[in-house]
Amino acid sequence: MIDRENYFDNAATTPIDERVLAAMLPYLKEDFGNANSLHELGRRAGDAVERAREHVAALIGAEDPQQITFTSGSTEANQWVLAFPNCAVSPFEHSSIYEVVRHRGIGAFLKHNGLGITPANEAYDLVSVMAVNNEIGSLFHPSAAKGKARRVHSDLTQAAGKIPFQLDGLDYASLSAHKIHGPKGIGALYSRELPPPPMMIGEQERGFRGGTLNVAGIVGFGEAARIANLEEAQNLEHVTNLRQQLVESLQDVPDMKLNGGECVSPYILSLSFLGVEGESLVIDLDRQSYAISSGAACSSKSLEPSHVLLALNTEPGWIRSTIRISLSRYNSSSSVRLLSQNLKRSVEILRTMGRA
Ligand code: PMP
Repeated sequence: MIDRENYFDNAATTPIDERVLAAMLPYLKEDFGNANSLHELGRRAGDAVERAREHVAALIGAEDPQQITFTSGSTEANQWVLAFPNCAVSPFEHSSIYEVVRHRGIGAFLKHNGLGITPANEAYDLVSVMAVNNEIGSLFHPSAAKGKARRVHSDLTQAAGKIPFQLDGLDYASLSAHKIHGPKGIGALYSRELPPPPMMIGEQERGFRGGTLNVAGIVGFGEAARIANLEEAQNLEHVTNLRQQLVESLQDVPDMKLNGGECVSPYILSLSFLGVEGESLVIDLDRQSYAISSGAACSSKSLEPSHVLLALNTEPGWIRSTIRISLSRYNSSSSVRLLSQNLKRSVEILRTMGRA
C-alpha cells in the first residue's frame, strides 16, 4: 500500500484530511436532512451548507458567499461557463475545457507565444485561462488575456488553497475540493455577478443549479477550504522546499529536462528523462510503492500525447519520457530523498534496458 508520504500524485487528487472527514461524518449519519427542508433536520443541513459557502468564499477572497454556487466539481463548473456562445480558451487548459472546444468546436483557442497567452483580439463572450497548469505547473495571468472579450473565467483548481492568485478581474472561477484534501465530487463556480443560465434546472442554489445538495460533500469542502486558508502559507513553504530538494537531487541526471518554464507552482514538478517511457517509470516506481504520474498523456490512461506539451512544440521523444511529481503537505524531506534515489535508479536501469 502506498501511504500518503509516498504519494506524489497530488495534482490528480489529494488524500482527505482527517479533520475534513470528521466534519463530514455527522451529515452522513444523524444530520442527514435535505438542506431544502423546512424542519429542524433540514435547517441544520441548510445552515451547515451556508457555513461551508462562507469558508469557500473566504478561501478565494470573494466578497459575498452568494458568489459561490456548489457544483459536482471543476469539470462541471468549467463546462457550465463554456455554455456562453462564443468562447476562446487557452491551449493549455485541462481536458474538461480543452476537449470540449476541440471536439464540439464551440469556441476558439487563444493564440500564444510559448507560455505567453496573447490577449483576445475579438469580442468573445468569454475567455478562459487557468491560473496553474495541472500537467506542468506553469502559472498564467487569466485577466491579462481578456483583451476585447466580455468576460474572463479561470480554472483555479490547482491554485485555490495552494498559491496566491488574483481574483480581481475574474468574472468566473472553478474550484474543486479534492485537490485540497477535501472529498471528491464537489466543487464550485464563483460568479462575480450572476452565474450563467443553469445547466441543471431546479430550485436549489437559488435556481442556478438544481439537484439535492450534497450536504456532506459541501461540508467537507467548507472544512477543507477553512483549513487550506489557515495553513496555505506554511504548506507553500513546505512544498517549495521539497520541490527545491527534488530539483537539486535530480539535476545531475543526464538528458533530463524540467518542464513548465520559470514561473511554476511549487506543488507540481514535470520532468522528462530522454530515452525512458514515462509510463515505464510510473510502473517501476509503483512497484516500489511510490505514486507518481506520467505527464505524457492527457490522463494517465489516455494514449494521446499531452496537448499541453504539444502546444509548446516539445519533441515527441521528450513528450513520451515525461513524468509528473506533485506534492502535498503530507510528503516529507525523507520521502522526497528516497523517491529521488529510486527514480534515478529506475531511469538508469530502464535506459540500460532500452539500449540492450
Ligand atoms: N481543472 C484542473 C486544472 C484539474 O487539475 C482538474 C482535476 N484533474 C479538473 C479541472 C477537474 O476537476 P474535478 O475532478 O473536480 O472535476
